[in-house]
Amino acid sequence: MKIVVIGSSNIDMVAQVNHLPAPGETVGDANFIQSLGGKGANQAVAAARLGGSVTFVTSLGNDMYADILKKHFKKEGITTDYIIDDINHPTGTALIFVANSGENCIAVAPGANYSLLPGSISRFSEVIDVADIIIMQAEIPYETNKKIALLAKQKGKKVLFNPAPACLLDEELMKAIDILVVNEVEAAFISGIDYTGNNHEKIAQALIEAGAQNVVITLGSQGVYMKNNQKTVYLPGYKVNAIDTIAAGDTFCGALAVSCAQREIDQEALGFANAAAAIAVTRSGAQPSIPTLDEVKCFIL
Ligand code: ADP
Repeated sequence: MKIVVIGSSNIDMVAQVNHLPAPGETVGDANFIQSLGGKGANQAVAAARLGGSVTFVTSLGNDMYADILKKHFKKEGITTDYIIDDINHPTGTALIFVANSGENCIAVAPGANYSLLPGSISRFSEVIDVADIIIMQAEIPYETNKKIALLAKQKGKKVLFNPAPACLLDEELMKAIDILVVNEVEAAFISGIDYTGNNHEKIAQALIEAGAQNVVITLGSQGVYMKNNQKTVYLPGYKVNAIDTIAAGDTFCGALAVSCAQREIDQEALGFANAAAAIAVTRSGAQPSIPTLDEVKCFIL
């Protein structure tokens, strides 16, 4: 299963605080945690741990994190040959405050992620050739995702697009998407239909009419719903002790890409992704929570 992930890499810098600082306030006694994130990186790691042969196209900055990330990706078995070195910007960074109450506030500095522009696309053309499936998210420039999706479609490759954070998609891009993976918030935003808790069929139908071939709506603890012109599939969520849902959606996308790389999307493929994501929510952190293929196989049995 050859998977090409095109997307973001971030360094997440998290300060755990008793309360969120008010403007001008300094909060002492924070606990600091630094971790590797970015939806692109998370999905690449998920696909690699779950059995995919993964190439990750991302843009890293002019700082020490670029080397740290490259080494990390290599350790995960990910091909890093197409990573872009952006000497003019820092590596993408998310600055996160999390209060004891669970409240948070986040500032994301996209840095090098925003220099993953269509101008570099000639390099992408050759990497698309070796892929069975290309996966993308919305933390890099829109025009890059669009250009890649159209090129991939033209080359007869499958395109899995996870428009997160939520963004509007034009018709041309929608028509290039084989598998659109959205959570309830993204589904509502993109379709323009409020999510009422049980109208995912109507929303999925609207997204199919907008051009996507297969629409997958992840429903958090409620599982997953999929619709295309032939069938609908609903799988309830696994009953697990959820402690942290960070990277649940990313694990789901990486897993689904692995299981759909060489075959059509079906109940089994969705079940695999549903299981992988359920394991991820039982562990804390983004990439540390992503399971391996063996763990998912044991979980499903
Ligand atoms: P996102 O993380 O993008 O907001 P969701 O919250 O819909 O996406 O979660 C993605 C997937 O993770 C779900 O479809 C499901 O498979 C799994 N999942 C999320 N939360 C839970 C949970 N509490 N229990 C079991 N599975 C979960």
